[in-house]
Amino acid sequence: MIVVMSKSATQAEIEHMVQRVKELGLKPHVITGVERTVIAAVGEEFTGVKETLETGPAVDEVLPILAPYKRASRELKPERTEVRAGSLSVGGKRIGVIAGPCSVENEEQIMSSARAVKAAGATALRGGAFKPRTSPYSFQGLKEKGLELLAAARQETGLAIVTEVLATEDVALVAKYADVLQIGARNMQNYRLLEAVGQAGRPVLLKRGPAATLEELLLAAEYILDAGNPDVMLCERGIRTFEAHTRFTLPLATVIYLHQKTHLPVVVDPSHGTGHTYMVPEMSSASVAAGADGLILEVHPDPQHAMSDGYQSLNPEQFAQTMALCRKVASALGKEM
Ligand code: PEP
Ligand code: MN
Repeated sequence: MIVVMSKSATQAEIEHMVQRVKELGLKPHVITGVERTVIAAVGEEFTGVKETLETGPAVDEVLPILAPYKRASRELKPERTEVRAGSLSVGGKRIGVIAGPCSVENEEQIMSSARAVKAAGATALRGGAFKPRTSPYSFQGLKEKGLELLAAARQETGLAIVTEVLATEDVALVAKYADVLQIGARNMQNYRLLEAVGQAGRPVLLKRGPAATLEELLLAAEYILDAGNPDVMLCERGIRTFEAHTRFTLPLATVIYLHQKTHLPVVVDPSHGTGHTYMVPEMSSASVAAGADGLILEVHPDPQHAMSDGYQSLNPEQFAQTMALCRKVASALGKEM
């Protein structure tokens, strides 16, 4: 519910209504506007709540939030959210570019990746230290050693670090090194993990599960927001369909739909979304054209010898070309990149 207070409501009346919301078992969220204050009452709604709140002092009207997700919805917050983490900003005028290898492999690999993506204009460095691999026999990541290498790359380049956290018990460790916690597609509906990153004090990049609807993605984001973390970026990384010419099917209408439904910024991952290096440049510029607030791209100094996802990684030169292509589209749209 959204409790719209009258323009003349006093601080005491607002506080009274905040108290009423709590007594009804709902969480109040006060939004102070220029003209008036509104109080969002979030939680499980039961019949009679609207009528009860309507009788409060200085209440103009009580409106239901129609979307099942509340804090994520534009009904509650119409203006866009800009998420900032060190050098990275996503959701403002400038398109954020998170680039780097799928996995952190060794010092030389992550340092040369960081230098290359920085030189070409990336605003953050990606690299997995904890890797979710389909097979238990595949490379699982360097774990804490990988996090240390990412921190060293940040030290040298100034790039913010985006890296995945796979399990609740690793959240504190990963948050110690990372600027942004990535929740991978396979964990989008791991609700305990979502709650944990909601409390970790770091922005979150939440990737869409390959079989999740956008409503499920928004409800997953709601877990993080409801745990007290307002800094959530949503990421479209492709879904499972019957189509086999790409690794996943990358729907760009997602960006447009999400912008209508939520104030949270939207990042697109053309690397996982296509699974083929040759498709990444155009799908990146198409993402920018669709209005994406950010891109996340896999870039490796030597893709042929990458320990994971080399077949979809750009080399530094291809990344620089992709940036140049995307910048043209961005500038046509009045955005910076
Ligand atoms: C990744 O970013 O390397 C990754 C594992 O992505 P996803 O969770 O989207 O598969
Ligand atoms: Mn990958």
